[in-house]
Amino acid sequence: MMAERVESFRLKRPDEIEKMRAAGRILGACLAHVAAAVRPGITTLDLDREADTFIRDHGCIPGFIGYNNFPNALCVSVDDEVVHGIPGKRVLRDGNLVSLDCGLILDGWWADSGLSVPCGEPADGVRRLIDVTRTALDHGIAAAQPGHHIGDIGHAVQTYVESEGYSVVRQYVGHGIGRNMHEPPQVPNYGRPGSGNLIKPGYVLAIEPMVNAGDPEVHVLEDGWTVVTDDGRLSSYAEHTVAITEDGPQVLTLRPEPAVAER
Ligand code: MG
Ligand code: MG
Repeated sequence: MMAERVESFRLKRPDEIEKMRAAGRILGACLAHVAAAVRPGITTLDLDREADTFIRDHGCIPGFIGYNNFPNALCVSVDDEVVHGIPGKRVLRDGNLVSLDCGLILDGWWADSGLSVPCGEPADGVRRLIDVTRTALDHGIAAAQPGHHIGDIGHAVQTYVESEGYSVVRQYVGHGIGRNMHEPPQVPNYGRPGSGNLIKPGYVLAIEPMVNAGDPEVHVLEDGWTVVTDDGRLSSYAEHTVAITEDGPQVLTLRPEPAVAER
């Protein structure tokens, strides 16, 4: 999501991080459930219904609904769509690259996460783009250490992605998260080492590389939401909510059996 709203920001206490972990665990399970439902013939609205029901059944609020008037619980972005796709009647087909982004609120605390998965048998280039994006997220998380800077995260993501021959989106960035989905600081997927905020224990960050097969430029469709690549080539996405502790980064939105959910 675009970090256009600037909200109050403070370091989270360990007990608050535990509340966010509880929210994140449910979101991880939700995304594993929705990812497993991706198959040829299903509509993007079907996937949204799965997410919406799962979230409410687990006592949480689907946070995306009504956020800047977004209508659904889930963003579903297909092929050249980068992020913020609105679920609808579109029928998924064999070979599609499907990006899922979801957010929920539990006891006032947010979790925000997502992943890209192939629909059926992946088309040429889909598997590798998804794998590079997922690995880019791992590099970003590994750089989110106490004593590092926010720019180190983006530098790690960008350096790896470009070494693989892909590009990172500039117009949309990761963000702090807590009682609001979007809090300072912004977490770009590009940057210079040592730039930006000093990362301290108590930061909780949504790190979310958006990786394009071609050029980095993107634009928004007439629906006011769906972000697509200018060159029409594929885009992939991966996001986790990550708490920074004295011991290093901890992913709060872990998914059960990730190898199953992501393959
Ligand atoms: Mg986010
Ligand atoms: Mg998200």
